[in-house]
Parts: sequence; C-alpha cells; structure tokens
Amino acid sequence: MATRELGWLLRAWEHAADVVPAARGAVLVDEAGLVEDLDAAIDLPVDQLATLVARLHTEQFGPTAEGVLDCDSCGEVLEVEVPLDLVAAGSVGSAAVAEAGSRIVVLDSGRPVRVRVPTTRDLLAVRGRDDVAAALLARCVSTVDGTGALYAPRLDAADLALVDAAVEELAGAASVVVRARCPQCGTSLSAPVDVAAFLWNQVEREAPAGLAEVADLASSFGWAEADILRLTPTRRSAYLALVRGADA
Ligand SMILES: [Zn+2]
Repeated sequence: MATRELGWLLRAWEHAADVVPAARGAVLVDEAGLVEDLDAAIDLPVDQLATLVARLHTEQFGPTAEGVLDCDSCGEVLEVEVPLDLVAAGSVGSAAVAEAGSRIVVLDSGRPVRVRVPTTRDLLAVRGRDDVAAALLARCVSTVDGTGALYAPRLDAADLALVDAAVEELAGAASVVVRARCPQCGTSLSAPVDVAAFLWNQVEREAPAGLAEVADLASSFGWAEADILRLTPTRRSAYLALVRGADA
C-alpha cells in the first residue's frame, strides 16, 4: 500500500474531486506530470489520454482494474477483471491508424471530409446538450485539409453513422469494451471501459489511507506534510512500520 506515490495521490484526490467526470482523466495525468499542463491534457485525443491514464493506473495501483457488469436479463452482477496494461501498452486498437490521428471519410453526398478523434475539450463542450453524440461527432469533422469550418449542421443520419464508425476505429484505446457471458442465464454482456473512472475510483478509495499515513507520521515525529510527501515510498513505509508497530 505504501508503495504508490503519496504526493500524486493526495494532489490527484484534491484536484479531481470537484471536476466533472469527463475531465478527471486529464486532471489525473496532469497532476502526475505526464503532460506539459492541464490544457495539453485536455487537448489530447481521448485514445492517447486513455493510454496515459492506463499507464498511471498500472504504475500506481497495478495492471488490473476490477469492475462489475450487470446482467439486464436476470439481474446477476458479474465481477470482471480488466487488464489495463494492454491499454497502457497501446496494444488495443490499431497503432498505425491511431498514429495518424485523423482520416478522410467520404460522406454519403460524395463530399470528402477529415475526421479526428475527440479530445476532452470536445467532450466538455457538448456536455448537457440533448444531441451529445451528434454534436460531438460534428466537432470532429472538418474540411480535408483540416482547416475548414465544421460541417455540423449538414451531417444527416447516414453521414453521422460514417463519421461515428471512423471515430471508433481511430479511438482505439479509448474505446475498449469488456465482454462476458452471464453464468446464470448465458446472456452475452458488454460494457465500455472508462479507464479514467477506474483510476479515479482507486484514488478516491486510497486517499483516506494516504492522509492517515501523513497524519500518523506528522503526529509521531512532528514533521511537516511537505517533508513527509518528499520521503521515498520505501522510507515512508519503514517509518510507518516503526510508528504503527509501536502502537500495536
Ligand atoms: Zn444473466
């Protein structure tokens, strides 16, 4: 438990608690110093952000996230393990396609457009709208040279389906789906994996223990919080063993 980076854990917990869920992944990787600043994190395509989030989860909490799938047919709740190290390694989705970041799609009308992967900024911009999916896709469409105005109002249902398919292919790591068969009734279940939600759950779950470590060391040795957060995990854990061992 004491091996994760306590300074990051507490900063992440403090700064991501009050932001909307769609922005949490960006805040968590920014606090870890994996990007230049929060703006850079918010402007990362969601697949690249998911790769960083998964890497952070793997480093701090291990490579496996535990989730649950609800069976709509019989109500059974399944526990599933999600191997986030695969997402972290970027081995989900097509690397060749993701590298390009965007692709040309020919719409039903015959007009070619450029489609790119959404960013957190796109997700935040369409939050609360009635037509979230269509609005999001429309933001990701531009002229072929990438400079033109959006085609938003002119995308009909058939065009949106084409754009949607292109984004899904491009998004790779951001669109991981976990599948399982219900052991009770045999129904096939699937759910999208929200890597940032997994990471946030861990942060939220472990922050109280992290605060307790700081409190125990501060009250035992009179150290300031900043000094405690600067200790290496090994040294912090050794001091904690002294303190808590003596209490036991
Ligand atoms: Zn079932």
